[in-house]
Amino acid sequence: MKSRGEFGFIDHIKANFPAPEGIIGIGDDCAVMPAGEGELLFSTDLLMEGVHFLRSESSPEDVGWKAAAVNLSDIAAMGGIPVATFLSIALPKDAQGEWAERFIEGYTQISRTYDVPLLGGDTTSSLMKIAVNVGVLGRCPKGKRLMRSGAKVGETIYVTGPLGDSAGGLQAILKGIEKTENVTRLIERHKRPVPRIDAGKVLIESGKVGAMMDISDGMASDLRHIMKASEVGAVIALDRLPCSPELVCVCAEQGWDRYELATSGGEDFELLFTGPEGLENELDIMVYPIGKTVQGKDLIWTENGRILNSDYIGYKHF
Ligand code: ADP
Ligand code: MG
Repeated sequence: MKSRGEFGFIDHIKANFPAPEGIIGIGDDCAVMPAGEGELLFSTDLLMEGVHFLRSESSPEDVGWKAAAVNLSDIAAMGGIPVATFLSIALPKDAQGEWAERFIEGYTQISRTYDVPLLGGDTTSSLMKIAVNVGVLGRCPKGKRLMRSGAKVGETIYVTGPLGDSAGGLQAILKGIEKTENVTRLIERHKRPVPRIDAGKVLIESGKVGAMMDISDGMASDLRHIMKASEVGAVIALDRLPCSPELVCVCAEQGWDRYELATSGGEDFELLFTGPEGLENELDIMVYPIGKTVQGKDLIWTENGRILNSDYIGYKHF
């Protein structure tokens, strides 16, 4: 059978499991369930050795940090506060000793940083590679969660921080370029992503956000999820994408396309959201306007006011 592609496959699962009344199921950064005065958020993410990390390149501490970070980011993406995580891990023989201990060290560091307890999980041996699955539970005030489907035509599109650093760091690792100070900063951003729980909280409390999600597959791909869920088109000004000085510098040195990394490289874990114009002057956090939602289905890229023909596509697993 021909593969449906990652997102086609998820759509197929979703068709078999429509969410029960009052529950939001497959399709957003988290599932949402009513719970007393508030709502519970739940999400899981799987990290595979060889796909998400290489044992030769990432320290076990970094993998532990990242396994939790990507999940905490999904809670931040709804404007939620993480409550607890669950960790299931499959370990081949050669990872059952020191690797596993050091992994937990990194997992503990991020859990302490964001004050999120680990409440359970599962441990098993693996015949081949390391697999790590983290489940995360969060909460938010009733009816306030920020979904991918909340965007309206005419809103401004924002991101909460620089894009492309993680992809730049990954490219630096893969190409084995010299680890200058700037390159090291990018690699750090790739290995130790920061879940924007603080930003998510400010944004949910502002009451001004239309749609929101976190950037895991690259802005170009993730924005298309918001567009599809909200039935809007978008115009993005490439020249307004925030990029770190480190990335600008390394791109100039290496001849890399900054726009490509900022739009199509994933794992920045900044938040992508829509809202009224001018929020960059109103909130207690930095947010950067990068475009507008428009009528239609298309994603249009501009540079200095001119429409570009080039397209940018994010990461797909298959
Ligand atoms: P993210 O990148 O934010 O973690 P994904 O692209 O992995 O999100 O998933 C998109 C949506 O599809 C989420 O709601 C997720 O729960 C759901 N999903 C992904 N894979 C599966 C699966 N195997 N079974 C059920 N739901 C899935
Ligand atoms: Mg997500």
